[in-house]
Amino acid sequence: MDASTAVQAPTVKLLINGQLVESKTTQWRNVVNPATQEVLARVPFATPDEVNAAVANAKEAFKTWRKTPIGTRARIFLKLQQLIRENMKELAALLTAEQGKTLPDAEGDVFRGLEVVEHAAAIGNLQLGELANNVASGVDTYTVMQPLGVCAGITPFNFPAMIPLWMFPMAIATGNTFVLKPSEQDPMVTMRLCELALEAGIPPGVLNVVHGGEDVVNAICDHPDIKAISFVGSTKVGTHVYNRASLAGKRVQCMMGAKNHAIVLPDANKEQSINAIVGASFGAAGQRCMAISVVLLVGEAQKWIPDFVAKAKALKISAGSTPGTDVGPVISCAARERVEGLIERGIADGAVIELDGRKPNVPGFEKGNFVGPTIFSGVKPGMSVYDQEIFGPVLCIAGADDLEQAIEFINANPNGNGTAIFTQNGAAARMFQEDIDVGQVGINLPVPVPVPLFSFTGSRASKLGDLGPYGKQVVLFYTQTKTVTARWFDDSTLHHGVNTTISL
Ligand code: NAD
Repeated sequence: MDASTAVQAPTVKLLINGQLVESKTTQWRNVVNPATQEVLARVPFATPDEVNAAVANAKEAFKTWRKTPIGTRARIFLKLQQLIRENMKELAALLTAEQGKTLPDAEGDVFRGLEVVEHAAAIGNLQLGELANNVASGVDTYTVMQPLGVCAGITPFNFPAMIPLWMFPMAIATGNTFVLKPSEQDPMVTMRLCELALEAGIPPGVLNVVHGGEDVVNAICDHPDIKAISFVGSTKVGTHVYNRASLAGKRVQCMMGAKNHAIVLPDANKEQSINAIVGASFGAAGQRCMAISVVLLVGEAQKWIPDFVAKAKALKISAGSTPGTDVGPVISCAARERVEGLIERGIADGAVIELDGRKPNVPGFEKGNFVGPTIFSGVKPGMSVYDQEIFGPVLCIAGADDLEQAIEFINANPNGNGTAIFTQNGAAARMFQEDIDVGQVGINLPVPVPVPLFSFTGSRASKLGDLGPYGKQVVLFYTQTKTVTARWFDDSTLHHGVNTTISL
């Protein structure tokens, strides 16, 4: 924390009861441009009183918001999607400045969130109950999907637009009120989106934002007035959040870490497959939860390693704001040091370094947190570069004799976030789809993040909780199903006397 740098940089505000307010905390952190180390802003670590105030306002606002007509709720998100489109360039520039990814990729980050806002605008078709007529004589049963109350979201640094937009639009559209805790590493674009949400008509108290780290997250997990938490971030923190908040009686969903493998069969279209995998490995400097970080080359495809290296070598490393950049900086100096340390351990563990991206020369951005594309071959389980989620531009290559062996290899990894197969053989692709134990499966597609008609998911260590964020599943996550069984007496349904048996 950088209390001493209480200087000129603007402060990031809290959002409480519809007002952007200055925190009274004494703990602040700098928000830093990872390409230049320029301090862009200072973000507060909210006090317990501020967290309580956010939750209390959300609780109060819920009393009226839960009964607000569907059309009114939906129209706010229609307006918000328009505002996001109108401000796309500004949002992307802010995102690139604080997060580091390239401007086109930042627009993609905003756009994938925008799709969820559009989906929230269709809430009238999503939050529908069921009715069974005449379940007994003169009796109907129907369900209503009611909002839970105050819900909370905790988000990671790597998609500071998309992931907050996975959360608050669907929670609020279903009639809940919300407290968001953005990543303290890049909260500025998230705040700008929240300002646009206010402009779109979200009433005071319905959307609140508190900033901070561990203490604020723990306060959210423990708060008795918060009913549900959606978390996206690392497996370590997500597991902690899941356990702590579940113990406090909350509904929790945690989307967590990854080690995403791609299988390349020798019949794959070579050029297309290598382009796709190199883009998915090194795009966003490898800091996507769906980045391909391991490639299993099957049979003859093992001869393609030099082609991967040639493609990766040709990528342009620079600041995300520089036109034509392919690979921007990683989020922080600490992240750069961690990635470099893992590369060192990979070499020490006996993996073959085919391309070493450490300490690249990036003219004009000498202070940036850059790591260039790095490729290891001969990677095996037990090596740190395989066992850990590197979350940087490092691709591990291993070989497999056949598809069955490759599937077994992937299923033995603890993570199950995303995976992909490259082949022209439909039967092989179908076998992969059936037997792989991973949430998001791509066929000739490296980053199969589902659009909001579906829901993001995850298997094994990559996810805790049974329902996913956004899409159909999140409507169930953010609502409580109430089942009503009703009889209206008329002459034909009148019963006589007391009935003590279980029947309708
Ligand atoms: P992180 O777990 O460090 O942080 C996530 C959130 O938890 C942040 O808001 C942070 O402030 C908070 N936090 C950090 N340390 C904490 C602690 N000790 N106690 C309580 N709260 C704490 O994750 P990150 O580094 O911001 O993001 C990268 C991770 O997120 C990667 O592991 C990536 O795979 C994962 N991720 C997963 C998905 C998915 O959908 N599965 C999507 C994006 C990112």
